Amino acid sequence: MKNLRSEIIKYSKMLNSKKLSALRSGNISSRYKDGFLITPSGKKYSSLKNRDIVFVSLNGYFDKKKGIPSSEWKFHQDIYRNKKEAKAIVHAHSTCATAVSTHKRGIPPFHYMVAMAGGHDIKCAKYATFGTRELSKNILKALKGRKACLISNHGQIAFEENLPKAFELAEEVENISLQYITSFKLGKPKILSVNEMKKVLSKAKNYKKG
Ligand SMILES: [Zn+2]
Repeated sequence: MKNLRSEIIKYSKMLNSKKLSALRSGNISSRYKDGFLITPSGKKYSSLKNRDIVFVSLNGYFDKKKGIPSSEWKFHQDIYRNKKEAKAIVHAHSTCATAVSTHKRGIPPFHYMVAMAGGHDIKCAKYATFGTRELSKNILKALKGRKACLISNHGQIAFEENLPKAFELAEEVENISLQYITSFKLGKPKILSVNEMKKVLSKAKNYKKG
């Protein structure tokens, strides 16, 4: 567990250094036993120690004496409860993903790399106040058949089978968002067909198997 805590701290600091989320914004978790380990509420990532990482059970129980989890722990809980394949989650207020999310829209297949999120587009979860069960519900809806989504007027979230992969997916979502915004400088981008995206998705699946 010590290693898992250190890994969470390492990637939390990378939220800052890779400019995925400034100061205390965003949060990171890893599935552990019958629950998950998550970054604490209101602490700067640069000062995190192993003991600051909080364990929350899948039922939502945590020992307050040992620390308070990120105020957004509920959507981590709901993702782990509903997606068996989720082993680590990265949530970031990254600039470009957030910018797209403020238009309350997802990202269509303007580039085949949107398939990285698991489907033919990246959806945007409906807005609800941070930390609420309502937001959790909206996020789960946007994650149907996906491993990443935007969150309206908020940011983005990505999960994977381990933390390095979840972090990379969040970086990819940010990169795709930047490309999407940039494409509008030349007018509305042309979108790939459903058929082409089906080909890309099946290729991505086989590539993983190989
Ligand atoms: Zn947030």
